[in-house]
Amino acid sequence: MRLDGKEISTSPVTISITERVSNLIIKEGGLDIARYEKEAAAGTLKFKPVVIPGMNAALAVNINSRRINARNVIAYIEGENPDEYVVVGAHMDHMGMDNGKIWNGADDNASGTVGVMTIAKAFAASGVKPKRSILFCAWTGEEKGLYGSEYFTMYPSMGKISDYKFYMNFDMIARDAANDTAKNMAGITYTKAYPRLEEITKSIAAQYKLNLKLNIRSQEAPTGGSDYTAFTENKIPVIAWMAAMHPDYHQPSDEVSLVNWNKMLEIIKLGYLQLWEAANGEIK
Ligand SMILES: [Zn+2]
Repeated sequence: MRLDGKEISTSPVTISITERVSNLIIKEGGLDIARYEKEAAAGTLKFKPVVIPGMNAALAVNINSRRINARNVIAYIEGENPDEYVVVGAHMDHMGMDNGKIWNGADDNASGTVGVMTIAKAFAASGVKPKRSILFCAWTGEEKGLYGSEYFTMYPSMGKISDYKFYMNFDMIARDAANDTAKNMAGITYTKAYPRLEEITKSIAAQYKLNLKLNIRSQEAPTGGSDYTAFTENKIPVIAWMAAMHPDYHQPSDEVSLVNWNKMLEIIKLGYLQLWEAANGEIK
């Protein structure tokens, strides 16, 4: 899959042959496989292509292409300064069905989508007009290659991408790792040039006595397997939340019965206050 307007993949078509066919080619081509291996190991191999009389192969490749339309879902609160934006996002797609089993994706990423919607609800309920405009985004096509968020950074719904000052990502915020006996561990990765993001995070967690044991990491340019990548590539500071990796990752067993609701709630509270600071204060 690729986004419209992007180059089509130039990787070649790959074919494979059976052992029977490869043995036939070796035999008919006059190759002595024992000598070939010995020479290859010694670095003295001089392989020359050979013509095998009476043998030929033909290969035809047909590519059927299909356009698929998918949508991001985006909500908006206008700020006092409407031309500066902060964003919270989570992907809403998952793996579909396979072999009659549904990949419900409770952690990946119903949990993150709930986080975005809950924070939107909380900002609306506050009744306070934020200093910067806030976008609440549910991304499509993340599992296929981060397409929804990449598309957004190419064609922002509001303003220009240079008007975007902060991005926060929720992907898998509801589970416990095997070693998390207190069931309160969660990870944050943030953009290193913005150390205030870590200060804000720690002071909020302490002030509100949140039950979270945070593993906070910084990276020069956080990229990876989720939707903060496209924002990092556009030089926008990010916070990326993830609670834990677990054996149900990308399995039909990623079920709602395994969700740690208390942890999810604490993460969403902290995420709300981080976004509040990014929308109303300074993160640099
Ligand atoms: Zn995910």
